Amino acid sequence: MAKQCGFVALIGAPNTGKSTLLNCLMGTKLAIVTPKVQTTRDIIRGMTVEGNCQLIYMDTPGIFQTEQTFEKAMVDAAWSGARDADATVLLIDSLKASLKGLGEQDKKLLQSLKDSKKPCAVWLNKTDKVKKDALFALTKEAAELSGEADIFMGSALKNDGVDELKKWMISHMPEGEWMFPEDQMSDLPMRFIAAEVTREKLFLRLRQELPYGLRVEPEQWEEKADGSVKISQIIMVDREAHKKMILGKQGQQLKEIGQSARMSLSKMLDRKVHLFLFVKVVPGWKDKKEFLPLGV
Ligand code: GDP
Ligand code: MG
Repeated sequence: MAKQCGFVALIGAPNTGKSTLLNCLMGTKLAIVTPKVQTTRDIIRGMTVEGNCQLIYMDTPGIFQTEQTFEKAMVDAAWSGARDADATVLLIDSLKASLKGLGEQDKKLLQSLKDSKKPCAVWLNKTDKVKKDALFALTKEAAELSGEADIFMGSALKNDGVDELKKWMISHMPEGEWMFPEDQMSDLPMRFIAAEVTREKLFLRLRQELPYGLRVEPEQWEEKADGSVKISQIIMVDREAHKKMILGKQGQQLKEIGQSARMSLSKMLDRKVHLFLFVKVVPGWKDKKEFLPLGV
């Protein structure tokens, strides 16, 4: 059989479960998943091979409606991701929709599928938490708003129904040579993924106190002769006060964040990791061009 290879964009309002679905499709943890919105700032690509088909996923940032440069860039990133893809999957949080009805963003996105010239599917996510009759009504509404889109449902968290969605994706991928080696998980340099790991630990530790303007930049990646790797990263914040929050008393908090990031990284990379974290105050970094999301 001929080889197939193509791009699938996962789009949807923040918190609908895009990163969770990506991880489920990949069968591994790649994009960071947290209960907070706006955690996915860069388009993270993952890829898997299913039989003859290489699927390349784009987990796009959520879609926002503010004027700020950074948010605007995230919106553009979401749509540009979908434009380049061979197929698009729009995620809807069916739990939220069953309680409050479809949100404005959901509706706009559903309607926008009509304009797409590429195959589109709707994935009603989080059905593990939703009653059958509520789902039935939601399916009907989503079908009406989206026109021709194929509708699937299930739970990305529980890996329920995802295989059906995958089959749909494969059926819409073009024939062609694979773009990446079979064993490659992501085309993002590993150092970016390592920075994501640290960012996830910061989120988990700081929760509500997490400074909004925060970014983890990979700085150095040094392979050591003994097989270990030395990684340094810079945690960038907007304000001096945020730096203090991250450091904690006598730097204890940063130390603990570093320890847990180092443990995760060492597991992921399957070798010893020396991790060095620095906190740097860069006022207004969010509006600087060079820090806009990847791919913009
Ligand atoms: P994203 O912002 O669209 O990337 O959303 P995330 O993947 O980060 O998920 C947001 C939240 O929804 C997290 O707390 C996930 O655990 C949760 N979530 C995602 N998928 C499901 C699902 O299928 N069922 C349930 N119950 N929760 C889910
Ligand atoms: Mg996400």
